[in-house]
Amino acid sequence: MAKIARVELDYPFDAEQPEVGDFIEVADGICWLRMPLPFDLDHINLWLVEDGDGWAIVDSGLGNNKSKDIWRKICARIGAVPGGGRPVTRVFATHFHPDHMGLAGWHCEEHEVELWTTRTEWMMARSLYLDTEGANRREMAEFYLRNGVPRPWYERTLQMGNTYREIVEEPPARFHRVEDGDEFELGGRSWRVIVGGGHAPEHAAYYCEEINTLISGDHVLPRISPNISLWASEPDADPLGDYLDSLEKFKALPADTLVLPSHVQPFRGLRERSAELQDHHRERLDAIAEAMVGKSLTGYEAIPIMYGRQYDEFQLGLAMGECLAHLARLQEEGVLTVDEDSAGVRRYVG
Ligand SMILES: [Zn+2]
Repeated sequence: MAKIARVELDYPFDAEQPEVGDFIEVADGICWLRMPLPFDLDHINLWLVEDGDGWAIVDSGLGNNKSKDIWRKICARIGAVPGGGRPVTRVFATHFHPDHMGLAGWHCEEHEVELWTTRTEWMMARSLYLDTEGANRREMAEFYLRNGVPRPWYERTLQMGNTYREIVEEPPARFHRVEDGDEFELGGRSWRVIVGGGHAPEHAAYYCEEINTLISGDHVLPRISPNISLWASEPDADPLGDYLDSLEKFKALPADTLVLPSHVQPFRGLRERSAELQDHHRERLDAIAEAMVGKSLTGYEAIPIMYGRQYDEFQLGLAMGECLAHLARLQEEGVLTVDEDSAGVRRYVG
């Protein structure tokens, strides 16, 4: 995720933010809950939405004991415990990433409720969790090799276990499907599903016109840009193209929509922010195109063009994915071509 923030956004809760593990009300019937993450990005925002007598949970945090302990305390406070009178009614997920889906299955089982999400996000979560090869390890290692990563990293990638399963509790074996444009009732109000691609294949944001509020997930974030990566599972995809296109849907919502994002804090200025994210990627695409003129580089070799430096192994996966997403977009636009040598290594040619 890169830090970008040139347009001025309005942060109505700048002075009042929940501590990690705590929540505050941000809109009529919606509470903002902060959960810890053990990464550079140290928190995720989750949402509790009043739903009849009880509460719907939107995204669930990482599948670990710390998050479970916090949830147990939160559920006791909101009455979502036996005899508490305010049960959890359903669990929504914006997408399959561990910080969003991590405790979805746990909640569904604890509270005997259904998971609401898109079919692709549910299937991604189920298949990664159940992958006996270890969350696509072999495919990922070979994908790295094809894109020019040094051989020792290939070997180490092969040996990694299922890292998804380490931080996600088993996603439920059945779910309730939502699709782009669906309207459903939540808390006596109508909410609409807005699907976006690029960050995750079928990421669901949820918009309520009556209170002019958007739960944007990771699709539109303030201050940081969501990771847009090409992944081994779909090497011929154009995730950046998907992402840039789907931002148009968010530019069509009212300018003063209250946006509830999964990281940082709620804001207003959705149209400006969506346009800024598009401009940010366009500038990067143009800079890469210019730097690639007359060159023939693997995805790995192109990383310093995009970031000004090579990455260590820990960060390589995300940097590589983002770099390849930009190269794939430029290939789609006809700016770059791709050559493959006899060993199957791909080179982007400017
Ligand atoms: Zn995500």
